[in-house]
Amino acid sequence: MSARSTVWVLGDQLNRNLGALQLADPSTHKVLFVQSQAKLESKTWHRQRAHLVITSMRRFAAELTAEGFEVDYRTARTMGDGLAEHRGEHQPEHISATEPASWSGRELLLQHGVELVRTNQFLCHPDEFEAWVGSRKSLKMEDFYRWQRRRLGYLMDGEEPAEGKWNFDSENRERPPKDGRSWPEPVRNELDSLDLAVLDELPASCWGAPPDGTWATSRAEAMRRLRFAIDEILPRFGPHEDAMLSTSWHLAHTLLSPYLNLGLLHPTEVCDEIEIAYRAGLVPIASAEGLLRQIIGWREFVWGCYWHWMPSYRGRNELAANRPLPPVFVGKASTQMRCVESTLGAVHDHGYAHHIQRLMILGNLCLLAGVRPGELVEWMWASFVDGAEWVMLPNVLGMALYADGGLMATKPYASGGAYIDKMSDYCKDCVYDRKKRTGEDACPFTTLYWDFLARHEDKFARNPRVAQQVRAAHRLSDLDDVRVRAVQVLLRLDRGEL
Ligand code: SF4
Repeated sequence: MSARSTVWVLGDQLNRNLGALQLADPSTHKVLFVQSQAKLESKTWHRQRAHLVITSMRRFAAELTAEGFEVDYRTARTMGDGLAEHRGEHQPEHISATEPASWSGRELLLQHGVELVRTNQFLCHPDEFEAWVGSRKSLKMEDFYRWQRRRLGYLMDGEEPAEGKWNFDSENRERPPKDGRSWPEPVRNELDSLDLAVLDELPASCWGAPPDGTWATSRAEAMRRLRFAIDEILPRFGPHEDAMLSTSWHLAHTLLSPYLNLGLLHPTEVCDEIEIAYRAGLVPIASAEGLLRQIIGWREFVWGCYWHWMPSYRGRNELAANRPLPPVFVGKASTQMRCVESTLGAVHDHGYAHHIQRLMILGNLCLLAGVRPGELVEWMWASFVDGAEWVMLPNVLGMALYADGGLMATKPYASGGAYIDKMSDYCKDCVYDRKKRTGEDACPFTTLYWDFLARHEDKFARNPRVAQQVRAAHRLSDLDDVRVRAVQVLLRLDRGEL
């Protein structure tokens, strides 16, 4: 390598030990960061999301400078322009980058002659995922997760899973507690001058509350949140991971996903800490296994599926959904639906909602209403602090909207008000009645649920996981009234009057 080599670090690769940067040395390499104006203007980003990425990039650039690197942090019209300007000014003989986490990112870098170094940001590289897929006809997360457990060795006693079971899901689906308990308050830090400068620079199109110091923008602060998550949250994580409470936006969720997705933390660091805490007897197996499943199971499975199915995957729309995103999602309307109001309130205030709020409130509403998959993908990608295309495509198209026709999930995650009532405290304060499917105060979820099953009978009548509900929909004595009410509900949803 000559002294004129450059490593290009992307905004979600903020870790000294990743791919191309791991191989770099200040005596031989410069480091390039490009902050693209086009990217910043490409979506209606949540203010906290845009602030998190840009501030983290700048702090990481400063850390590399302190280590002795010559860092070229440039703001450019596009990523390609930034690279061309760097080439013009610095004339590097060689430019490398860690494989980007998005399909279009990889295309762009290859197109510009950047050498891609194999990514080690995940525990399972797409090549390894392909080997696991092999001749499998269908991809099941549980199979993948057990394969990961065995090969990575987490929570294993020899060849057997710790405490004899792979899966403690049944212990992790408790209803929300009614004892008014408090939940660990997230670690926060004071905003500094860099935070304020970045906030000032954000485009006026950004929406949502400004940052309050909840989200870490440096490696040191991310490590502090990891310590807190393991010591204070993990022992309580698990039993209520599917519960939703209007009084707490975070409950006992670790809130580590944005750091994993930006590179501020590596999954190995989190999994090692889970193992240590469990072996020290500090956390029960159901909690340890629940979090491990999220990280080496779901997160890595979604990542592998993204690469396995791209690029054709992003156009999938199995249910021919054609409704625009409801105006309430983009702040152009309010709603009396308590569950939607509370969840969207958390997204506005924190750029965050946990997995069940994403799947069973926001996703479920869009599934039942027939919202265009691409619009929900874009919205979630721009609105959540941990958003990324690789996360959102499989989660939205596959899990939430059944838009991939069952590649990812074996059934549509559709539910009426009964499930939401069971798993939350929303319904008791709602103007709608979760038990009613017709009438002015009928719960929109309940009405749309039955209408959805009847509307998509041809798709689901032979699906063993939903066929019974489809038959039940057709046995409803008031199905015609439900359908009439569903038309009214959808009209009001479109108008922002629900
Ligand atoms: Fe949501 Fe229906 Fe419950 Fe209201 S009654 S909070 S709309 S599920």
